[in-house]
Amino acid sequence: MARRLLGRLAYGSRYDRIPSSQRVYVRPGERLIREAQWRRLIRRAPVMSLAEYQRLRPLKDIEEFLSCMMCGESRQQPLFEPGANGWSYHVVRCPACGFLYRNPGIRPERLGDLYASGYNTFLTGRYAANRQRRYELTMEAFSPVFDEGKERRLLDFGSGVGLFLELAERRGFDAFGVDLSPESVVQANERLDSARAFYGAPEDVPEIAAGGFDVITLWSVLAHLPRPLEDFGRFRSLLAPGGLLLILTVNAHSTQLKAYGSGWSGFTKNHLMFYSSVTVRTLLRRTGFAGVAFAPHYGDTVEAGTTRLSGPMVSRLRRNVELSDGGNMMRVLAFADEEAIGRWGGGPLTVHRLNG
Ligand SMILES: [Zn+2]
Repeated sequence: MARRLLGRLAYGSRYDRIPSSQRVYVRPGERLIREAQWRRLIRRAPVMSLAEYQRLRPLKDIEEFLSCMMCGESRQQPLFEPGANGWSYHVVRCPACGFLYRNPGIRPERLGDLYASGYNTFLTGRYAANRQRRYELTMEAFSPVFDEGKERRLLDFGSGVGLFLELAERRGFDAFGVDLSPESVVQANERLDSARAFYGAPEDVPEIAAGGFDVITLWSVLAHLPRPLEDFGRFRSLLAPGGLLLILTVNAHSTQLKAYGSGWSGFTKNHLMFYSSVTVRTLLRRTGFAGVAFAPHYGDTVEAGTTRLSGPMVSRLRRNVELSDGGNMMRVLAFADEEAIGRWGGGPLTVHRLNG
């Protein structure tokens, strides 16, 4: 309420009709204000030992206390408590490397408890169309890498009901998927022609465990992984020489997170870890990837050209996203080795090397 009042005082009603997901990028001066607020929040939040932190929080039987998985730091900086309709959790920041994660986290063997049955039933109709448009915009952002499949071997990890596999087979990829929901796998295979979805973990499915993938995709999966280092080590070993890993996930540098705090849209019920362009590099470096490139995310409507914002507003939004690395999603292309960088690293992509 106070925050809304302040916004009204500073900006009047001129920006009221702009969706909140775009407002923070188009109001003059807001980017700098939010960044200053963020720095103040980090400065003021207490830093405590893991033992102190554990005394603060009751532990449910599906939960576990964590240290930072990116750098090993055990100290905790409690920042947020997102929640709605009967769920809530705590988000801490690693005072050493800045990684944001849910702590207590969920014990990996109890992850299933988080996903109510019927999780996949709404993944159709307009939702499906919006999802597929988002996948296409992301592939476009890394063009020409995903323009044509040319029978390259692709694995979609967490393939759900096959919405991406459908696009991948249409583009000519030799596409496979894995998912931990048996109902989703059945639905996916009904949808698909040449591509195939499998139930289980990659190492349990012979067709997947054989490896040799040219591309692995993680669509809104990264934030759900309770043991990211193990998973990424496995992804790296499943990639062929010259292989690529494509990631779409929520961005922990998002200006929306800085503005809305615990109310940020990225703090969904089942998310566990929140990466930025800094911390995702640590994850990739530690699991043997050679390079990484990023594509800023301006929001689906701006990228698809369906936004109602005026031309000058769109320019301002794009500029503020770029200057702050503050888009709400992060799009990451990881290169397995030098061969991958040599083959795909040209053109408009800036490749950051991860070794040394
Ligand atoms: Zn850390």
